[in-house]
Amino acid sequence: MNLAQHLHNTARNYPYRAAIGFGAVNVLDYGALAERVARIAGALREQFGLAEGDRVAIVASNTPDYVTALYAIWHAGLVGVPANAKLHGAELNFILENSGARVCFASTDLASVIEAHAPPSLEHIAVFGGRSFDNLLAAEPVALVERAPDDLAWLFYTSGTTGRPKGAMLTHRNLTVMALAYIEEVDRTAPGDALLHAAPMSHGSGLYMIPYVMRAGINVVPESGGFHADEIFHLIEARPRLSMFAAPTMINRLVDYDGDCDPAHLRTIVWGGAPMYVEDTLRALDRFGPRFAQIYGQGESPMTITVLPKSDIADRRHPRWHERLQSAGRAFSCIELVIKNERGLAFPQGEPGEIMCRGETVMAGYWQNEEASAAALRDGFLHTGDIGVLDKEGYLFLMDRSKDLIISGGANIYPREVEEVLLRHPGVREVSVIGRPDREWGEIVVAYVVGEADRADLDALCLNAIARFKRPRDYVFIDALPKNNYGKVLKTDLRSRDAARNAALAPRTAGPARE
Ligand code: AMP
Repeated sequence: MNLAQHLHNTARNYPYRAAIGFGAVNVLDYGALAERVARIAGALREQFGLAEGDRVAIVASNTPDYVTALYAIWHAGLVGVPANAKLHGAELNFILENSGARVCFASTDLASVIEAHAPPSLEHIAVFGGRSFDNLLAAEPVALVERAPDDLAWLFYTSGTTGRPKGAMLTHRNLTVMALAYIEEVDRTAPGDALLHAAPMSHGSGLYMIPYVMRAGINVVPESGGFHADEIFHLIEARPRLSMFAAPTMINRLVDYDGDCDPAHLRTIVWGGAPMYVEDTLRALDRFGPRFAQIYGQGESPMTITVLPKSDIADRRHPRWHERLQSAGRAFSCIELVIKNERGLAFPQGEPGEIMCRGETVMAGYWQNEEASAAALRDGFLHTGDIGVLDKEGYLFLMDRSKDLIISGGANIYPREVEEVLLRHPGVREVSVIGRPDREWGEIVVAYVVGEADRADLDALCLNAIARFKRPRDYVFIDALPKNNYGKVLKTDLRSRDAARNAALAPRTAGPARE
């Protein structure tokens, strides 16, 4: 079934319910949204001459038209290519060219960047809110184009913490199952519930648009189009039954924000995409109450590998509450999860290895990249590249990306374990632990710290909590960690910065330093 059918079902059942909000105001109901979608789909087919399976890019900061454009693309039987609006022009050029998109929707602020970096394959740019978009809205509506479950719906370009992005091919089936899994296991959305898109709609937040449309919820876009703590607080006040997807860095900013709002208005904040350290989760719970859920997923199995539900995160009385907060929860019921080591042996519990999964949410492969597809999808399983360990009750503890693992003196050290300990120091605001090449040990553990702390105190914390060999041999104090637009720490950048810093520091100093 075509994903756009969800919208038309909802429009038929709830034509007057709000579909889209802009800030505190609802701007479109489901009846009107479905009408606009059918018209834009008409323009894509008739004016631009696109045919089933053609790609249409969206390069836009968050805007209400995002929802309209994406559903119009699906309605017309086309494939959406939402690209991260904060990418460099050259990176956008790569995605536009690689996907072969013939049409690109753009927000006003980005139209000139796209024009300047358009590959020859791009024929039209339709600017949201501009005349070109109004013309599309005036087109004759067309009927919904049938799609098979395995037809492509969304080319999801990986955030690319290393190398060139790859387009994960997500099908109508993948995204429908993802949405049902969300409603069943993350947050039981009901008509009138609102989802605030404070995180980029090209990524996780946008994917969650789908369950909200299915359940007649309201997709709300902040007026600023992005994440601003003051605006979020205002919207929490103004809109009861609000949920949002947020990267851990965003949650930390909300926790630290000096303002007032009624947390009872918040239904759920779902975090994912990067680790949320236990100390941060505890602070978030103190500030906003038991309203958090965690998901672990990746573009290749969108938002759906494991889930730590609200009930687990809120269960303070459970004897293993703290331990569970360190986990990413248990596999979604639609996912088969296994952990394998390098010899291919499956470890049902207790030993770390690569996390692999299969199920209806796993991508069909990478767009026009057979080599990468074959490497990621082997023996019927998606190889996530993440390392994890399962406990006796099926809780998954994410260690790190395999490439971030530190091997020192032959022993494996998982940065996350060391980071969790260092964050217990009240002066440490953020930390990222990496391996530095070392002639004697292979690698030594180095902690990049944002905040103020005494090296001896940090050492003492580690010696109290983890094996001696895992303790950082060097601490570097910096003002901010390098992160990508989705809030993920760029360890590859940190490693190259560290190498450059060390080359410059000769002979090497032992004491703490500030960059
Ligand atoms: P992306 O495909 O850009 O969404 O990135 C997916 C990657 O983010 C995963 O492979 C993990 O390494 C990381 N990730 C996703 N969710 C979590 C989580 N809940 N905790 C820690 N890391 C996560």
